[in-house]
Parts: sequence; structure tokens; C-alpha cells
Amino acid sequence: MAVRTPCCGPAGKGGNAQVAHRAQSQGRRWRRNVRHAGAGVARYVGNHPVLAGLAGTLVAFAMAGLTLLTLFNGRTDALDHARETSQNLVSTVSGDLERNVEIYALSLQAMVDGAEHHLSAGLPPNVQRAVLFDRATTAAYLGGAYIVGAKGEVIASQSGEINANVFFTDRDYFVVHQRNPAVGLYLSHPFRSRVRDGKLSIGLTRRINDEHGRFAGVALLAIRIEYFQRLLERISVGKQGSVFIAMDDGTLIARKPYSPRDIGASIAGSPTFIRMAAEGAGSYVASSAVDGVQRMYTYAHVPGTPLIAVVAPAVDDVLAPWRHRALISGALTLTFGAVFVVVSWLLAFALRGKLQAQAALTRLAATDPLTGLANRRVLDRRLDEEWRRARRTGQPLSALFIDIDHFKRFNDTYGHASGDEALSAVAECIATTVRRAVDVVARYGGEEFAVILPDTSADGALAVAEKIRRRVQTHDILHGGDGSRTVTVSVGCATSVPAQGENALDLLAAADRQLYLAKAAGRNRVAGGQVAAGSEAQDSPSQA
Ligand code: GH3
Ligand code: MG
Ligand code: MG
Repeated sequence: MAVRTPCCGPAGKGGNAQVAHRAQSQGRRWRRNVRHAGAGVARYVGNHPVLAGLAGTLVAFAMAGLTLLTLFNGRTDALDHARETSQNLVSTVSGDLERNVEIYALSLQAMVDGAEHHLSAGLPPNVQRAVLFDRATTAAYLGGAYIVGAKGEVIASQSGEINANVFFTDRDYFVVHQRNPAVGLYLSHPFRSRVRDGKLSIGLTRRINDEHGRFAGVALLAIRIEYFQRLLERISVGKQGSVFIAMDDGTLIARKPYSPRDIGASIAGSPTFIRMAAEGAGSYVASSAVDGVQRMYTYAHVPGTPLIAVVAPAVDDVLAPWRHRALISGALTLTFGAVFVVVSWLLAFALRGKLQAQAALTRLAATDPLTGLANRRVLDRRLDEEWRRARRTGQPLSALFIDIDHFKRFNDTYGHASGDEALSAVAECIATTVRRAVDVVARYGGEEFAVILPDTSADGALAVAEKIRRRVQTHDILHGGDGSRTVTVSVGCATSVPAQGENALDLLAAADRQLYLAKAAGRNRVAGGQVAAGSEAQDSPSQA
């Protein structure tokens, strides 16, 4: 026997269909709500174009603000990037200096050891040289290696040349070592060589002691300034940037851009230097005391030496690419922002114009052109609405049917132009009598009018009808001002408390039947009273 699973049976299918149907109708409701909300917003914005323009302007400003923020971040990034690059350059320079000084210091120590042991040993000069100076002392940027005696005289040189007339007693390194046995490795201030055509060098020196620990001279390695200058030449820091090596007392050893006058000069008094002398490493932006150019100074002390390596690109150079980009982005943002604002305002006003035109069209479609009253379409809709409302609230709903008496004769006598005039005048009489906002006055067709009076009893409807009849009868225009013409109306009234199963049109039909009775009773009168929709009138017509 086949087993039927619940999901595949008819009940399952029906359930699925129901769920699908519910989902569909929910989707439709949701779409309708969204459409209504959208239309509501559009209408609101159309009625308040300032709001739309302001919203557009606000968005444009917000976008401009975001762009500004991005640009500002770009500026910070550019400065950060420059700082990072500078730090890398500083550590490259510093590392190179540290390594070379280390190597030279080893050679220098060998020279000191050799001098202390072998100078007094009375070795032949060439053997002495081989013992004292190792291969490192022949490096490219070494100006020479010397053993200076206690009186400042050259005792031995790496080149073998000894000028007996040259003394170094006035050199800072000589004085320092002579006075203080504990100085150790000393880096001298730049000096012009007395044995090498006045070439600028700095001396890397150590004290030599005799066997009793007394000052016996100085071991000197002369490092040519070109070494430092070459080191800096490899570094690119932009058009206005500078890079330099200074001693911690402010003496400049090398600088790019190069100027011979700078070497040996002191920048100790410069505010930019005071800060870098105080801290081991760092970075800051300051204006140069020399040329006023704002630079980003990134510096580090070279470990084991009194040297400071400084890389200082100009802020203008660092920011130049960013400024170029910022100018383009700024100009584009401004242009697009302005266009956005203008377009928002144009659209807002265009939308208002469109909604106004649409409202005028809607008004026209609902209005009778001759009398300015609501037309038949509006009457049908409003009657239906008021009927359903009355059914909900249980309140009475009244309808008046108004017809101009013998209007054909009037037209025939005074012409259609006068007939139109009279129609308008009657419409005005009705409209000015029926004043509540919920009441509906409409031209039913030809010379017939209909009035719907919500929440109005039969007595109330009769009273309004009578008022209309009398106002028409006494209206000046309708009677030529001298009573030569006579225009009157007959009015049929019907009132109902709508119940389930009844039709709104039954109420109008009842009013029409009352109108017929009023006509039959002699015209210029009101007929009606409390009627059940679809039944005959209970009251008889009342004459004016
Ligand atoms: P009754 O008292 O029985 O209503 O007689 P009546 O002549 O008013 O009625 P009937 O239905 O015979 O004629 C209606 C006339 O209303 C016909 C037409 O000349 C006139 N009429 C209808 N619409 C207009 C209009 O828009 N302008 C003008 N000037 N006359 C119209
Ligand atoms: Mg008629
Ligand atoms: Mg008529």
C-alpha cells in the first residue's frame, strides 16, 4: 500500500499555496506602503523646495568635509612617510659612521699597543712601520696614520715620511690626551693637515703611555672630511632639504648642500641644534635659523662617537606632491559640490512646479468647468465614501437633488449664454448655502445638482433644501434685477441611516423620486423627509 506523506498530500499543497499567497499579498502591501511613503516624501519636498535644496547643500558640504578630512589625512601621511624615510637615512648614515669608526678604532688600538711596546725597542724604521700600521690604515679616506711623540713631533708615519719641522702640540687631541689619561678614543675637531697640503681632516686619536704610565704621545688616524661628505652626497633630500653630520658640541663636520665655509663652523647656538644635542634621537619640524626654511629635522647620535647624523628635508618639498593632489581634489570637490547644490535646487523647484501642475490637473479633472462645482466623478466617489462612513458610524446621511424649473423655456427665451449665466448663479446659491467642509455640492448634469449632507437628519436636509430654494428665488441675477425673469428650483430630499446590503445610489434615486414629486406638485418647492433607501417618500412636497 502506498504511504502518503503529509507534505505531498492535498492538505500540504493547500498550506503551501496559502503561505505563498500570504507572502505575495504582504509583498504587495509592502510595495504599496513604500510607494505611498515615497510619494509622500516627494510631495512634502515639492511643497518645501527649500528643504530639498538645503538637503542637497548639506550633502555637498558633507562630501566637501569628507574630502577635506581625507586631504588632511593625506598631509599627515606625507609627513609621516617623510619622517620614516628620514629615519631610515639617518640610521644608514649612523650605521656607516659607527662601523668605520669601530674599524679605525681597532687599527688605532693596534698602533697604541705597537707604540707602547716597540718604539723603544729600537727596531729599524721599516719594521717598525709594519708592526705599527695594519692594512686598514691604508683605506681610501684615511689621510694618514701617525705616532706623535710627547713633544708633538712625528715619530712614525704610515707613509714613511717624517717632517722633523712639524709639531702637533697645539692640536686639540694632543692637548686633551696630554692633560687627561682617561680620555680613551677621541675624535678631534676638523683641522687642516700640516703634512698633506692643508687637506681638511678630523683625527681619531688615543693616548700613548710610557712604561710608567706617563704621557708618551698620541696615536693619530687622520680621516679626510671627504669621507663624511661622500656619505652625505648619496642622500637625496629634495631641493631645499639639508643633511649634515655635526659633533655634539655643534661643530659641523659635513653638510649637503656643501659649502667649504660650513665645515668646522659651529651651529651650537641654533635653536634647532639645541634640541638634537639634548636627546639621543628624534624628529621635529622647525624653521632654520640660517635660511628660514621650514624643515623636518630627524636626527640620531652615532653610538660610541660624539657625532650626530641629521636628515632635514624641507616641509615644502615633502608636501609638494600632496599639495598638487590636494589642489586638484579640492578644485574638483568644489566644482562638483557647487554643481550638486545647483542641481538640487533646480530639481527641488522643478519638482514643486510639477506637483503644482499635477495638483491643478487633479483639480481640473474634479471640477465642472461652467459652475466650478465638483463634477459627477467626485460626486460618485464622495457619495460612496460618505455612505460607508455613515454605515460605520450609524449617523444619517442626506442627499438633495436640485433641478432648475422650466429651464428649457428659459434657454429658449433668453438664449443659451443667459442660460449658462443662470446655471452658474444657481450653483453659487447652492454652494454658498451649503457651507460645511464635509458637505459635497456637485453638478449632476445639465441643469441638475446634487448635494450630499453627511451626519444630517431629514429635518436638517429639508431646512437646507428650503434655504437653497429661497436663495435662488431671491437672487438678483436670476431675475434681471427687476423681476422680469423667474428662475426657481425644485429640490428632492432623501435621508437614510445606511445598513448592510443597501446601496449609496439608492439614496440618490430616492432624492430623485422626491424631486419628481416636487415637480409634479407644481415646482419651486421642496419634497422629502425620512426615507428608507429604495422606498417611497414619507412626506409630501412642501410649497414655498
Ligand atoms: P423641468 O421644470 O421639468 O425640469 O423642465 P426643464 O425645461 O427644466 O427640463 P428639461 O429636462 O425639459 O430641459 C432641461 C434643459 O436644460 C435642456 C437644456 O436646454 C437646458 N440645459 C441643460 N444643460 C445646460 C447647459 O449647460 N447650459 C444651458 N444654457 N442650458 C442647459
Ligand atoms: Mg432636468
Ligand atoms: Mg429642469
